[in-house]
Formats: sequence, structure tokens, C-alpha cells
Amino acid sequence: MRPLYFDHNATTPLAPQVRAAMAPLLDKVFGNPSSGHAWGLDAKEALEAARGQVAALINANPDEICFTSCATEANNTIIQGLLRPDAENPDPGMITTQVEHPSVLEPAREMARRGATLAALPVDNQGRMHPSDLHNALRPNTRLVSVMLANNETGVIQPVWELSGPCREHGVLLHTDASQAVGKIPVDVRALGVDLLTIAGHKLNAPKGIGALFIRRGVSLPALLFGGGQERGLRPGTENTLLSVGLGAACALAGRDLPEEMARRRMLGEVLRDGLSRLGADFMIFGENAARLPNTLLVGFRGWDAGRIVEELALRDVAVSAGAACHAPEHEANDPHKASISHVLRAMDAPVEYAAGSIRFSWGWGTSREDVLDLIERLARVLRPAR
Ligand code: PLP
Repeated sequence: MRPLYFDHNATTPLAPQVRAAMAPLLDKVFGNPSSGHAWGLDAKEALEAARGQVAALINANPDEICFTSCATEANNTIIQGLLRPDAENPDPGMITTQVEHPSVLEPAREMARRGATLAALPVDNQGRMHPSDLHNALRPNTRLVSVMLANNETGVIQPVWELSGPCREHGVLLHTDASQAVGKIPVDVRALGVDLLTIAGHKLNAPKGIGALFIRRGVSLPALLFGGGQERGLRPGTENTLLSVGLGAACALAGRDLPEEMARRRMLGEVLRDGLSRLGADFMIFGENAARLPNTLLVGFRGWDAGRIVEELALRDVAVSAGAACHAPEHEANDPHKASISHVLRAMDAPVEYAAGSIRFSWGWGTSREDVLDLIERLARVLRPAR
């Protein structure tokens, strides 16, 4: 059976063009970018070209891009850097949403344990946050607002561009975790009006182990690491030229193909949607009426256990993901359905009988129409027998 990979929001395969761009770094271009000799200068040139490619994809200046090891590190750098209580600001405040990735929620909770104030805004049943809630939550001590651009589970796009006005008025920094958005939809830091933005390389066909942080000129972010001063002191340590070049190439590729790939991915989503409705299963699509990424469909199959569907599909060489599970509140921990519902679906107040059977289908570069048709066929075999 042909393997079918429908888990591109978890991670993506390496694009051949990215591999080709990295090849010289595995061979001749091995110098340390800080060295003044020819080897170092070659490495520095490759690194700075990559920085330019990342910047170009999001309409930033190259000097506004800091390479990190991953999105988690970028999010931690921002949150731990800005929310550290000090004598001047003993209880710095952060506002985020209930549906953020753990790489935002967990450092935020940690900073709250250390004295910061944390507010997590709700979302509606489509997974959308409402900018008016931000107006009401802003306080004199608020230092940071962090709202993801696209949700990893539902693909729902948040109206980040509507948040910059109130943030600016209150002198608050605006961050967006764009890990799932960059390379999938147009992302323009100026149009969004953000001060800080997170990129995850492996979500856009670059290798794992590389991410980037956009820091608007004029914004000062305290460093978490101290050392040789690389990445303008924010992320010291000898630069990972190999993976940075990979991320640069992936950004160039994504930017080049974006309009066609978006249309193609949207078409694949329609084929999938169509196929699902012909299966005869009772299902709902989470965030169906919200603006969503063109590559993501989170589907709840009524009365099913998501883990069972994932396993059955895995036996048929299909990779999908169960709506990321999260710890249940204690009083629900013994209910096998409620215990497996993610924090995102909880925040959306999703019906338990559908949410417990939620499967995330995510596709991307290399996914064909035939793949989607085959997926539907294999899914039909899983869902057909009586439970
Ligand atoms: N933010 C979002 C929205 C994500 O989907 C992910 C990964 O799933 C991350 C951050 C963290 O990425 P990484 O594990 O590469 O640090």
C-alpha cells in the first residue's frame, strides 16, 4: 500500500530544493561565520543570504531576523524575556488566548508562577478570539499580547491585524506565533502590525532544529543566553549555518509558490470535504465557519475514539493526528471521552461526542489529489464496520 502522509501540521518533509541548498554547507562551506578568513566569510555570506530570504517572506528587514533552534525557543525567548518580574515592574502582565500552543502557554504559566499576571482570552465556538475582549483585558501593567496567527489543530486564523491598534495605544508589545502560518498563507509583519513573530522551520519543508524570531527594529528584547554575542547578542552560540540556510531556502521556495500552492491545497481540502460527506459517517468540522489555513481540516467523528481511528489508519499506512490531547481537569479525568479532548476543543466548547473522535488531516507540499482520494477510500474501510 502507498503510504499517505496527512500530518503536515506536525512536521513536513524536507523539500529537495532545501536539501540542495544545504549541500555545500555539509562540504566546503564549513567555516565559523565569526572568523575573518575566507572560510568564515563564505559561511557568513551564506548565513546572511538565508536571513535575507527569511525576511523577504514576511516583509521584514534582514536585521529584524534572529535564528533560533525552534519555535519553542523563540516563544520562550519572548515570554521569559519580557515577563520576568523586576524591581521596576514586579507583576508584568501578559494577555494571550486559551488556544495557544503549549510553547506559549507553558512559559506564560511559568512566568505567572514567578509573579507575572496572565490572562487567557476565550474563543468562540468557531475557535476565533474577539479583539473587543483584548480591549477589556488590557491593564496598565500589560507588557505583552501574544495571539497565534493560525491554530495548529483547527487551522483557524486569528485577527491579529486588528490587535496592533489597541496594543500600540497602550504601549504594549504584540507577538504572534506564526509557526503554522508562515509558508502556508501570506504573512506580512507590517500589515499585521506585530512587534514580534515566531517561525518554525520544519512546518515549511525546512529541517527540524531551526526557527526564527522577527523582532521589529526598535524593540528591545532581553537575552536568555549569554555568550559570544552572536545574533546580536540575543541568541549567542556559533550559528547553525547549515539549518539556517535550509530555512532560508524553504522560505524562498514557499514565497515563490505561495499563490499556486494555496489554491492547490484549498482544492485538496474541498476534495477531502466532499469525500467525507459521501462516507455516510456523522461528523463535524471544527472551525468550519472561520477563516482557516488551506491545508488543515479538524474533523470530529461522532461516537468514535480518535485514538482508535489513528491506529486503524496507521495499519493502512496513513498518517493523521488525533486532535492534540491535553490534561483533563481532575473531575473529568475518569471520563475516557472528556479526558482525551484537547484544550483547543474545550475552549471552543466543542460537543464531546464529536470532539472525542477528532482527527486532524493536514496536507502540503507533495500531497496529490490521488492521495486524498486514496485517503477517503481507506477511511471508508475504517469507519464502515459497526463499532
Ligand atoms: N507553535 C505552534 C502553533 C506549533 O504548531 C508548534 C509545533 O507544533 C510550535 C509552536 C512549536 O514548534 P517546535 O516544536 O518546532 O518548537
